[in-house]
Amino acid sequence: MGRIPDEIIQRIRDHTDVVDLVGRSVALKRAGRNHKGLCPFHDEKSASFNVNPDRQTFYCFGCHEGGDVFSFLMKTENLTFAEAARSLARDAGIEVPETGGGPGRGISEQLYSANTTLLERFRSELARSDCPGGPYLERRGLAPEDVERFQIGFAPDAWDTAVAALSAAQIPAEIGEKAGLLQRRERGGHYDRLRGRVIFPIQDVRGRVIGFGGRAIGADQEPKYLNTPETPIFRKREALYGFPQALDPIRRSGRAVVVEGYFDQIALCRAGIGEALATCGTALTTDHARNLRRRTQRAVLLFDGDAAGERAMLRALEALLPSGLRVHAALLPSGDDPDSLLEREGPDALRTLVDAAPAALDVAIDRAVATGHETPEAKADAVENVAPLLALVPSAIERSEYCARLALAVGTEARHVEAAVARAARGEDPREAVPIGPRRTGPEERHLHQLARSLVEHPSLAIRIPSDELPGLVSGGPVAELVRCLVEAAAEDRGVAISELEDRLSEEARNLLRALAIVDSPLDEAAAAQTVEDTIRWFRDQELKRREQEITRRLRDPSADEDEKRRLLDERQQLLQRKRQLASSAAVPDATAVPPS
Ligand SMILES: [Zn+2]
Repeated sequence: MGRIPDEIIQRIRDHTDVVDLVGRSVALKRAGRNHKGLCPFHDEKSASFNVNPDRQTFYCFGCHEGGDVFSFLMKTENLTFAEAARSLARDAGIEVPETGGGPGRGISEQLYSANTTLLERFRSELARSDCPGGPYLERRGLAPEDVERFQIGFAPDAWDTAVAALSAAQIPAEIGEKAGLLQRRERGGHYDRLRGRVIFPIQDVRGRVIGFGGRAIGADQEPKYLNTPETPIFRKREALYGFPQALDPIRRSGRAVVVEGYFDQIALCRAGIGEALATCGTALTTDHARNLRRRTQRAVLLFDGDAAGERAMLRALEALLPSGLRVHAALLPSGDDPDSLLEREGPDALRTLVDAAPAALDVAIDRAVATGHETPEAKADAVENVAPLLALVPSAIERSEYCARLALAVGTEARHVEAAVARAARGEDPREAVPIGPRRTGPEERHLHQLARSLVEHPSLAIRIPSDELPGLVSGGPVAELVRCLVEAAAEDRGVAISELEDRLSEEARNLLRALAIVDSPLDEAAAAQTVEDTIRWFRDQELKRREQEITRRLRDPSADEDEKRRLLDERQQLLQRKRQLASSAAVPDATAVPPS
C-alpha cells in the first residue's frame, strides 16, 4: 500500500477528536481535564482508562495501553496504521490519494466494501415490485419506511446474484468468500451463500456492514435463520445487531435492551425503544457484556415467557453479571414475541413491559422459590440453585442484599445463604483480573519519576538539565530513558510532540510517557521548575555520596598503598567541598538557575 503523505496524516489528526472516537466504543465521563471510562483493552470494573483531549491521547493505568487516535483504531480494530488512517480520513471527509488501488488495500477494508456492495444489491432487489420479500415483511408488520430505516434487503433465490454483484464491482470472488458471502464450488468457481431470504445488515458501532442475517421466507426453507459466518470483521461473540443506531438512545436512556432476534429488535425500535440490540445467532457472551458495560450499567433482557425463555435468561445472566451490569428481565407473555405483542396491544404495552422489568436476580429468586421451599431439602435446593448466580455479582453490597432477599424468600438465615454463595464463588473459575499494583520503587526511581513528570508537563524546563551530566547521574531503566529522551529533544530545540517522542522510546518508556502525559492534576510551571532543580540536586548529591562511600571503602582496604591513600584523601576533600556548595545552592532556591531561555 502506498504511503500516506504526512500533511494528510496531520489533517486527519486535526480533524479527529480522540474523545469522539473513543466515545463510540467506551462510555466516557469527564473527570478533571480527562475523560474516564472502562478500558476496552482489559477487563475491569472501575474506570482506569483515561482520555486526554488536550493531548489527544489515551492511556490505561490498568494495562498500560495508550496512544493517539491512530493507535486506538489500530488496537481496537486490528488495523495497520494505513488502514486506521484511511478509516479516520473517511470519517472526517478527507480525501486520501489512492495508490495502487483495490488489491493493495487491507483485507478488512476489502471485506467491508464487499459487504456494502452486496447490501446495495440486496436493497435494490427488495425494491422491485415482484420481490417476494416485500409481501413477507408486510405480513410481519413492517411498513416501507421501516424497511428503509433498517436497510433491509432481499437475496433472490438464485446461485449467482452475489457472485455477479461482486464481480461487477471488481471485487474478487476470494474476497466474497472471505466475507462469507460466497461459497466455493468443489469443481471451482463460487456460488451465493444467502438465497431466497430477507436480509438484515449487521453493523459495527461505526456503522460499517460486518455481516448479514438472512430470514427464510419459504415455509419449508431450512434453516429459518442463516447468518454469514465469522470473518475477520464479523466476530459474533461481540457483534450486536442495531448497535450504531442504539448508541445515542443507550446514552439517553441509561440502559440497553437485549433481545434474541432481528425482528424483535426492530419491533422494539418501532415501539420507540431505540436502545434495543439483538445478538447475531449466538447466546450472550462475556464479550457482549463487556461491550455493553462500557456504554451503560443497566441491561434489560427480553425473553419468551416459557421454560426455554427462562433458561435462556438465566444463561444470559451468567454472561452479563460478572461485568458489573445490573440486569433486568422482562418475560413476554407465553406464546408472544415482541412482534405479536406490538401488533396486538400496541407500543405502550411493549414499553411498559420493558420499563417495569424487575431485577433479573429477583426473578431468579422467585423461580427457585416457586419450585418449593417447604422442606429443609427444598430450601437447600432453592439456595443452591441461585447461589452460583449471586456469586457472580461483583458489588459486595448488592450481593449481600440479594443474599438477604433469598434468605427471606426461602425462610432461612442470611448467613447460610452467604456461606452458600461464598462456596459457589470458590468453585468458580478464578479468572479475576490480577490487579497490577504500584511497582515497588526506590527513592531514585521516585525522583526520576517526578523529574519525568515535570518535563512532560513543561518540556521547556528540560534545557535546565545539562545533557552531558545526565548519563553519569541516572542509571538505566525506562524512567531514565524517558528523561534522557526529553532532555535530548529539548537540546535539539524542538517542541515535544508526544507521538513523536514515542517513536524514540522502548515499549516500557513509551508506556510511562503516556501515563505521565495523562495524569490528571496539572503541575504549575514554578512547581515543576523547583522539582527539576531539586531532583538534579538530589542526583548530584547521591553521586557524591556514592563516590564518598567508594573512597571510604578503599581507604579501609589494607592492601592500599600510601600514595593511593593520599590521592583518595584528596579526592574526599574535594567531594566535601562540592557537597557544601551543593548545600548552599539549595538554601537559595533557583540559585543554579540557568540561562534565560
Ligand atoms: Zn486497560
